Amino acid sequence: MISKVKEEKKETLVMKFGGTSVGTTDAMRQVVFIVATEKKNWKNLIVVTSALSGVTDLLLTMADCNPDILDKSVSEITRRHREIAEALIQDKTARDLALNEVEKILSQIKNLCQAIAVLGESTPRIMDTIASAGERMCIHVLAAAIQSAGVPTEAVEATRLIRTDDHFTDAHPNMEKTKELTCSVLSPILAQGKVPVITGFLAANEKGNITTLGRGGSDYSAALIGAALPADDVWIYTDVDGVMTADPRLIPTAATVSVCSYREIAELAYYGAKVLHPKTIRPVIEAGIGLRVCNTFNPNHPGTRLVSELDAQPGVIKAITTIRNLQLVTIEGRGMLGVPGVAARTFEAVAKTGASVPLITQASSEQSICFAIPTSSSARVITLLTTAFKHELEHRDIDRIWATEEVGIVTVVGEGMKSTPGVAGRVFSVLGDNRVNVIAIAQGSSEVSISLVVGASQLKLALQVLHQLIQ
Ligand code: ASP
Ligand code: MG
Repeated sequence: MISKVKEEKKETLVMKFGGTSVGTTDAMRQVVFIVATEKKNWKNLIVVTSALSGVTDLLLTMADCNPDILDKSVSEITRRHREIAEALIQDKTARDLALNEVEKILSQIKNLCQAIAVLGESTPRIMDTIASAGERMCIHVLAAAIQSAGVPTEAVEATRLIRTDDHFTDAHPNMEKTKELTCSVLSPILAQGKVPVITGFLAANEKGNITTLGRGGSDYSAALIGAALPADDVWIYTDVDGVMTADPRLIPTAATVSVCSYREIAELAYYGAKVLHPKTIRPVIEAGIGLRVCNTFNPNHPGTRLVSELDAQPGVIKAITTIRNLQLVTIEGRGMLGVPGVAARTFEAVAKTGASVPLITQASSEQSICFAIPTSSSARVITLLTTAFKHELEHRDIDRIWATEEVGIVTVVGEGMKSTPGVAGRVFSVLGDNRVNVIAIAQGSSEVSISLVVGASQLKLALQVLHQLIQ
């Protein structure tokens, strides 16, 4: 009798590969290897991919109406896809088919860019069609490369899977429709034992027009598809060993955080750690799916596991992030106490600039409001605020509206800070001991993070000394 020793395969895994994971021949070869390896462990495997690194940016510059750049960019994008295809797709017919698709998509984009040049303007809807072309080209090369390694695949555009509203460049998914479409399109592909290779980042509205989920949105695509199926796990492959205690380029001793709560990762993503698109988390929590962040170039490293609840943590501070190139805008005046709606009017004016506001503080005396914004938006924000509060400035209810020198935010993140008294004290003492001047402070109401504003020149020092507090 033959005994059954073969281990049962696990059910369904969504793997998402970022731009650097598919950006070069060597990188994509590594992706092919990872997919072929995992195909042995899972019954259903789904691949979601970003565009080749840098291609989305290049496409967006092509839309900038410069005919010289246009031809150069088209040949650059063609060259990069061709190089990878020639190395990784053995069968000539398959290779030609994939490259044909790339060419077709590119010529469509070139036409659009020329039309923009003639008209002298574009629309968010056209920009989404242009921005998403990188993913649409990538799936053909990646799917054929995986197939060339012996794993059957099918390239799938997410316009067939993810349904969104009309909010071009930052569209919001309709989860019910997405579930329906994703299951009906992917089930027959999976039933044939094929790996669907799906475009991240893009989706479609009710009319079938391409929309995108915001820059860096491929992680979110993977989460949406994972939740729709539902998958057991979603693994986000990037180019570092998961979530790090700090940016390893700034802190060479930075280490991987092995387990991270959803609340912690949300704070980290919000405060500048670029490991995961912030919207990725919600769909996977709601569907009860496991999430892992791992490294394409070091696939045996366990990376970071994301969990919904953490047991009490001995290492209270988990990770530290920084955001640079900010200024603090302050509105101050003794007469502000009585003026209704100052905060609402302030942020209404700021919203008009489209600038994001990573930190806000208000003194309890209500005599000033202070918030951080990117340096690139500060002049425009001050102008708009000066107009919005013209009346109050004339009557001296508001004395001044001004921006500081350039600053940065350093954010200390750790779920354990809630239950451990004295963490804030340690943070401030170590900064004080090292003569870092803290200009403003904000603590997230979830008590998972403390953010400190320091002068731009002291940001790195603040990060270094705070990193030493991580056990
Ligand atoms: N390619 C898109 C971007 O660069 C989406 C992504 O990579 O996640 O924003
Ligand atoms: Mg990304």
